[in-house]
Amino acid sequence: MRNRRDFLQLLPLSLGMLSLLPEMAEKYSPFEPTPRPEGPPLRVAFLGLGSYANRVAEAIKDSERVKITGLISGTPSKIETWKNKYQVSDSSCYHYGNFDAIKNNPDIDAVYICTPNALHKEQTLRVAAAGKHVICEKPIAINVAEAKEMIKACEKAGVKFLVGYRMHFEAKTQEIVRMRMAGDFGKLVFFQGLCGFKIGDPNQWRLNKELAGGGAMMDIGIYAINGARYMIGEDPIWVTAQETKTDPVKFKEGVDETIQFQMGFPNGAVASCLSTYNTSHLDRFLLTGHGGFAELQPATGYGPIKGKSHKGEFTQPHVTHQLRQMEEMAEIILRDKTPFLPVDGKEGLKDMIIIEAIFNAVKSGDKIQITWK
Ligand code: NAD
Repeated sequence: MRNRRDFLQLLPLSLGMLSLLPEMAEKYSPFEPTPRPEGPPLRVAFLGLGSYANRVAEAIKDSERVKITGLISGTPSKIETWKNKYQVSDSSCYHYGNFDAIKNNPDIDAVYICTPNALHKEQTLRVAAAGKHVICEKPIAINVAEAKEMIKACEKAGVKFLVGYRMHFEAKTQEIVRMRMAGDFGKLVFFQGLCGFKIGDPNQWRLNKELAGGGAMMDIGIYAINGARYMIGEDPIWVTAQETKTDPVKFKEGVDETIQFQMGFPNGAVASCLSTYNTSHLDRFLLTGHGGFAELQPATGYGPIKGKSHKGEFTQPHVTHQLRQMEEMAEIILRDKTPFLPVDGKEGLKDMIIIEAIFNAVKSGDKIQITWK
């Protein structure tokens, strides 16, 4: 286990960097998990008990830092199964009509929203109004306006608003970011992010614009956008994009099947990315600069993540992503830990801004400038 001093020793220091050290150390040293529980666990209610919620719940079931203490679902049989499996009391089980009553439940600190994308906004607003912290799955919303409203509501309610960006806690991913911060890649030149899987059932919510807010881009392309940002360490200032649709029956108006897009960054680096629902085995990141490279394949799947840099294979051990994410989120929420890579609502908003720009670029064929205020 590396500590802060070891972290600092890993940095090849130039004179220019020395002056940055105290600030970097304060801001970035928490890239290691907190070694032991330092207080009570995060008591979390799950809102939406579908496939991803099941994966997260399974991952945290033996954790000392996160406990499942509440359930919200429209399906009584799911409540029954979960309640028995995770020992949740009847008084902490709710349906979509009455869950505002969590306000009076002292056993719930936070709610993890795992429902279709278009429901995130209203549910976040209700959870925040109940005075509970929000963990919301990606994409946080289906457009920029919604994301802004959610951030405002959480700020007003004084609750934390976190996004389920599990890769932000993944060890090999963090190692690449650490190497980039240490200058190991020199001047950054290029990022490639390829994200896709072949989607099945044409009737699922992911292919319904009303519920998904789009298609592959909202679901899987967002990993390439988010990845480009944390790998390069900047936010893009322009995008261009082109769409391909081979099956307009399955992928209706407003539901993107394949989009290739490019992003330009203030430091001069460019990114070339693919988001698709038309092929599986597509999960690859590459970062190159004048001093070296790093690549991950798979880059964003449930793991183990694999990859190498010009210095050799990455050997950081695999930890179940959802366990690592939730235990770190417990520290962020309960003990104000600053994560190595941010996972707050503003991070989610940035990806929404870029997705909107990409959709505009597809429609107009123009290079879309993005101004960050
Ligand atoms: P899912 O379809 O398996 O589960 C969705 C749940 O929402 C179901 O329990 C369903 O009953 C419930 N629901 C409530 N209202 C609904 C409605 N009107 N229509 C459809 N379902 C409704 O989906 P999922 O794969 O669990 O995805 C849920 C969220 O999690 C999405 O936002 C998705 O992007 C995100 N997700 C994130 C990851 C990740 O790795 N971070 C992985 C998968 C999914």
